[in-house]
Amino acid sequence: MLDQLESIRDNALAAISGAQNPAELDALKTRFLGRKGELTQLLRKTGSLPADQRPLFGQTANQVKQKVQEALDQKAEELEQAQKGRAEGTEDVTLPGIRPKRGRLHPVTQAERLILSVFTQMGFDVAESPEVELDWYCFEALNMPPDHPARDMQDTFYVAPDVVLRTHTSPVQIRTMEAHKPPVRIVCPGKAFRRDSDATHTPMFHQVEGLMVDKGISFADLKGVLTTFVRQIFGSDTPVRFRPSFFPFTEPSAELDIGCANCKGKGCRVCSHTGWLEILGSGMVDPNVFANVNYDPKEVSGFAFGMGIERIAMLLWGIDDLRMFYDNDLRFLRQF
Ligand SMILES: [Zn+2]
Repeated sequence: MLDQLESIRDNALAAISGAQNPAELDALKTRFLGRKGELTQLLRKTGSLPADQRPLFGQTANQVKQKVQEALDQKAEELEQAQKGRAEGTEDVTLPGIRPKRGRLHPVTQAERLILSVFTQMGFDVAESPEVELDWYCFEALNMPPDHPARDMQDTFYVAPDVVLRTHTSPVQIRTMEAHKPPVRIVCPGKAFRRDSDATHTPMFHQVEGLMVDKGISFADLKGVLTTFVRQIFGSDTPVRFRPSFFPFTEPSAELDIGCANCKGKGCRVCSHTGWLEILGSGMVDPNVFANVNYDPKEVSGFAFGMGIERIAMLLWGIDDLRMFYDNDLRFLRQF
């Protein structure tokens, strides 16, 4: 029976030290010291012991009872202190609630919407088409036959010999012209893919292209529309210049530069000391492209243009590394 006393003591002390709250502690007191408690029950059997063993058993039982009672008191004190600490220290019920964090649009999305808003105000419709594209739409219909040297300019991801991830959003123009008779006035936002990755290139990037086709569209229309666009985005006094260039699908072709806002044209690191920043490519649609979509080049004419959305965003907000758009660093994204 002395062994039983010891085992009750050990069980009781372990249970008390693990108690989480006063209610649990109360239940333990009842279980061990209560009128029908384990220790009380055992003490009732004292009479069944031989007379010479009773004094030692009684003495030990009292010690156990005292130990358990002490442990109960100490734990009760601890629990009370802990509760007080919570009420006074860490939980201030007068504090305002925690505001949920608000999401916001990615800078690329913001720039895309800004660009599209300028063109839609000028009457352009938004058109889209697949990102995985047939060679015909990505190259051949755009006046780039298989042996055309311009294909070397593009590092293409091939899905199959005749299927590519589009290297530009120009296929949208072909698909739109195939499906609609002129006049056409569209802007085409979307992703494009090239095998390229450094501070100024990412394997996936965003473009907005535009196309305007009708009777009597001239280079003056191209200049007017694009100058209006640039000045809406970068400010009404932004210097603009058109510089001759080459694209397989336009003839003549021109690149559009804006005056460097950083140095006001004097030349700085941002503009490679030229005073100008390249914004977009453009040109009059090549008659071969019209022939490929069964438009009559003698009847209609038109212009097309294309720009990188990331490029516009970088210039708008002074971002100097393209890769920051895709690191998903919240410290960067929260600034927009
Ligand atoms: Zn500059």
